[in-house]
Amino acid sequence: MNLALQIINEKFPLLKPFLLILMAFLAGCYVSKDPMRKEIKLLQKGVIKDDTSFLYSLPFEKGKCFRLVQGYFGRFSHKERVALDFNMKRGTKICAVRDGVVVRVKEDGDRGGWGRKYRPYGNNIIILHPDGSRSGYWHLQKDGALVNVGDTVRQGQVIALSGKTGYAFQPHLHFIVWTSRNGSWQQIPTRFQTSKGIKYLCPFKKYRNPRQ
Ligand SMILES: [Zn+2]
Repeated sequence: MNLALQIINEKFPLLKPFLLILMAFLAGCYVSKDPMRKEIKLLQKGVIKDDTSFLYSLPFEKGKCFRLVQGYFGRFSHKERVALDFNMKRGTKICAVRDGVVVRVKEDGDRGGWGRKYRPYGNNIIILHPDGSRSGYWHLQKDGALVNVGDTVRQGQVIALSGKTGYAFQPHLHFIVWTSRNGSWQQIPTRFQTSKGIKYLCPFKKYRNPRQ
């Protein structure tokens, strides 16, 4: 079987990249029907003005810049998720986006890869904020948590080191915020302070955390 695969790989070196592109294309045909998807587009374009919601800091150190490789309702693995994926090397310092208390830490996951079977290994930290909302930071490296459950953290404080544990195609930070609306948890988009002003983040763009 392995030999057969080897022969296929040698004879058709472009087969694997082609299959990857095909899968991405097929995934691209799916569009979430969640009404929040439209709302987020309008927030990103500035058609809906929002200057009252909490202003979050980016989940990495001041002065650093990372590319958002997948945004809200992204067609690769965020089809029904209001989540953000920042491309970053293993061991990058992750920072709290807002003051809060640590309510969950998992850091014993020791593997990651492309497939749902890796999901239980995803190391993560969840922080509870003063308004009852929560922020989550996923795919942290093994033993990469720098805080414990019950710790109080401040906005911008380094809380963890990034990695590639869980369902992760490449090392990155999966970031998400939830709030309780009408008695059930709902994922929400958030405004961030960037070096180019206050933004709702868009995929494939780079964002820098201002230095001051
Ligand atoms: Zn993600």
